[in-house]
Amino acid sequence: MTPFSNRITKLFNIDYPIIQAGMIWASGWRLASAVSNAGGLGIIGSGSMYPDVLREHIRKCKAATNRPFGINVPLLYPDIDKHIEIIIEEGVQLVFTSAGNPKTWTNILKEKGITVVHVVSSSKFARKSEEAGCDAVVAEGFEAGGHNGREETTTLVLIPSVVDAVKVPVIAAGGIATGRQMLAAMVLGAEGVQMGSRFVASEEASSHINFKNVVVNSREGDTQLTLKQLTPVRLMKNEFFKQVQEAEQKGATVEELNALLGRARAKKGMFEGDLAEGELEIGQVSALLDSILPAGDIVKNVWKEFTDGLANPVKKF
Ligand code: NDP
Repeated sequence: MTPFSNRITKLFNIDYPIIQAGMIWASGWRLASAVSNAGGLGIIGSGSMYPDVLREHIRKCKAATNRPFGINVPLLYPDIDKHIEIIIEEGVQLVFTSAGNPKTWTNILKEKGITVVHVVSSSKFARKSEEAGCDAVVAEGFEAGGHNGREETTTLVLIPSVVDAVKVPVIAAGGIATGRQMLAAMVLGAEGVQMGSRFVASEEASSHINFKNVVVNSREGDTQLTLKQLTPVRLMKNEFFKQVQEAEQKGATVEELNALLGRARAKKGMFEGDLAEGELEIGQVSALLDSILPAGDIVKNVWKEFTDGLANPVKKF
């Protein structure tokens, strides 16, 4: 497959503008290095890792690939100072920040020569990210799994708005798992795509096999955005989701919802495979997935479908 060249492939020094989202409990060094070795950009999701675990994953990723890879840092992470220190010490070159103010860490990272990308769900936050000095933004729409924006703007509306709002390159995310979806995003002005759910259903993802199986067996309408009073999050509609719905219908307070959520629900669901009581964070696009594949094949298939689609973009019936 011929490498592609645009601002995103040049910024990250990769062959194809396909980025694997940094996801808690799913994207460790195995997944990140497999995606990077296939010519995309692999990202280690640091949100579920204690600092010493993050360091181990960075070192293993460096040993498994000589291609660039990045780290996703959710800015809500409790020990974020330690994560940033490790990222700098280990010489990581690319950081994707999310869920917080891009002004807080961008300068510190950029002073160390690190490329910084921030994940946004609105044009307003895209502009803030550009002002903060970010090199690119990921514009993530309502369809996305896990943490989500409050304004519920869909990818189809968000991408052209963000592309108009900033000069830095825009990476589209939320609801993208196929080459034709990638093509649609690029037609709207994105210069790359970030995919999460597609890579959860990969052989190298560290998520539990029970979770992967639920993802590939799910249907349209099986996910919903919930917990809007706390942090909005898109979940698979399982037993835990129903408990949250019932509590919200009865008018539960923030304290009551926090008590119901408890601690480590995400780990219970996505890493330990408790499909009833765990939190299962996944995007709407899971409905289109039907197989668990090697991550390298995902990159190749998406790229092939994208290039085939580029040659013949409108389906003829
Ligand atoms: P909880 O407070 O429910 O639980 C914390 C979880 O994080 C535990 O499972 C714990 O592992 C693990 N953990 C890793 N490092 C630390 C640390 N330094 N201190 C405490 N716990 C740690 O949080 P969540 O599981 O809901 O979220 C964890 C993190 O992931 C947050 O920073 C959050 O912002 C981020 N997140 C990111 C998402 C994304 O889309 N990128 C989506 C959802 C969450 P153990 O059980 O082994 O102690």
